[in-house]
Amino acid sequence: MDTSGKDDSSFGYEVVLTQSDKSTPCCPHGPTLLFEKVRKDGERGRRFYACSACRDRKDCNFFQWEDEKISEARLLAREAENKLKRPLYSQQQCVARFRQFLSQPTDEKKFCGDCQTLLLPDEISEHASHSCLSVSASQLRRPSVLLRPLVDKKSNAQYLFTERTSRFLLDTLVAMGYHKVLCVGTPRLHEFIKLGNLETWKSKPLKSLLLDIDFRYAQFYSQDEFCHYNMFNHHFFDSEASSAVLQAFLSERNGEKVVMVADPPFGGLVRPLANSFSLMSRTWTTLQNAFSPEHSAECNADMPMIWIFPYFFEPRILECFPTFSMLDYQVDYDNHSLYKHGKTGRKQSPVRLFTNITAAHFVLPQEEGYRFCDICKRYVCSLNQHCAKCNVCPSKDGRQWRHCSLCEKCVKPSWQHCQSCGRCALPDHLCDRSNTGKVGCFHCTSLDHKRSACPLKHISSSKRGGKKKGSATRCPVKTKRNTNKAAVL
Ligand code: SAH
Ligand code: ZN
Ligand code: ZN
Ligand code: ZN
Ligand code: ZN
Repeated sequence: MDTSGKDDSSFGYEVVLTQSDKSTPCCPHGPTLLFEKVRKDGERGRRFYACSACRDRKDCNFFQWEDEKISEARLLAREAENKLKRPLYSQQQCVARFRQFLSQPTDEKKFCGDCQTLLLPDEISEHASHSCLSVSASQLRRPSVLLRPLVDKKSNAQYLFTERTSRFLLDTLVAMGYHKVLCVGTPRLHEFIKLGNLETWKSKPLKSLLLDIDFRYAQFYSQDEFCHYNMFNHHFFDSEASSAVLQAFLSERNGEKVVMVADPPFGGLVRPLANSFSLMSRTWTTLQNAFSPEHSAECNADMPMIWIFPYFFEPRILECFPTFSMLDYQVDYDNHSLYKHGKTGRKQSPVRLFTNITAAHFVLPQEEGYRFCDICKRYVCSLNQHCAKCNVCPSKDGRQWRHCSLCEKCVKPSWQHCQSCGRCALPDHLCDRSNTGKVGCFHCTSLDHKRSACPLKHISSSKRGGKKKGSATRCPVKTKRNTNKAAVL
């Protein structure tokens, strides 16, 4: 599908969130999502179903009009095709294979780099012409290093946390007293927790459960440590086994507090993700109430969550989760040069933590240039100076912003007030009237549309920052499908 939304009449694709049921068609990635093309004039196009996980037709070309009649024969063919695309081994088989693998002598423990699989002795000869290597016990504990990161830019690029970020996340969670970490799309964090258990927290090991669509990870973990999961449609590929694993993990019966940490692909659709996380939170709430019914009246709280995403998604995330706040901490990645930590310019990572946990509980490291703002009651970037007029530390990107009295708000340092646009913008911006689409949206910072077409334009800045309780599961904003990481750097 063309998701660029660049042709003249189009403005973008929106997801129509519906409860998926038996009639929702499935692709190899589980129930599909319903999309709708929205044009500039507000007119809506014919709705269609497409893959929830893959944004590139090359990866999954599922397509069906909402009102299309599908013959029985085609349904059967589709089902057969979905079956064919299942992983070679079931997760149970993977676990058995891993056990057998571990029992091999060290020099026979081989990993095929071409096939990305651990090989059992009788399989080694089949891979003779491939690049195979012997793997040590310590390499087996670091699957995220052993496995080649998936690089497909559109849907499934894997950006792995640096040591700095992994350590910060883990130390912070431990300091807050969490004992169980639900790792959604965070294989490296999962791995770090398990390593930490070996080294640091032997007496009181942390528990970690990885939920990821990358089934290669099933080769390295037991069934209660990994579930094959699609976070865009909340689909567990092995729903029966996973449901039991998830329920056991989310229940805090033994007093062990749970926190979720998710790092979805950034091209990702905000609303479907928020919907999945809400469903996860609801499962958590139900479990806590079931085990301590005496508390159920007061226990309408949401599960503690951290959603890692670029800062320019802030309006959309807050619209879905009004109780969330964005932290200044810059998340960085090993395999993405533009997302590395640094003090200047483009090297600063735009990726942040969004969370419903009290911001003050995140102690951001002073030696990396963060300080505590007594008024905002949170740690901020040292250059993010408190503005007395706005009464916030306004910077989103780590640079020092300045207050524009005409706009009555703080703006990026590189912006100047433009008389003809009546707002601050880059000095060489094309004024609103020229309408070339290059400047992007002043309201939500997306480069895909102008403010006049912004899906968020009805939300005022104050409301965007405001905290409303209890509506975390309502997501009235339509999610656009054509935002990508590169667009904002
Ligand atoms: N920074 C993280 C990795 C983030 S990359 C870390 O270091 O641990 C995004 C992760 O989400 C990858 O592991 C990828 O496999 C996973 N992912 C991508 N699409 C997904 C989907 N639809 N459902 C679940 N996981 C997905
Ligand atoms: Zn698919
Ligand atoms: Zn091979
Ligand atoms: Zn200000
Ligand atoms: Zn201004």
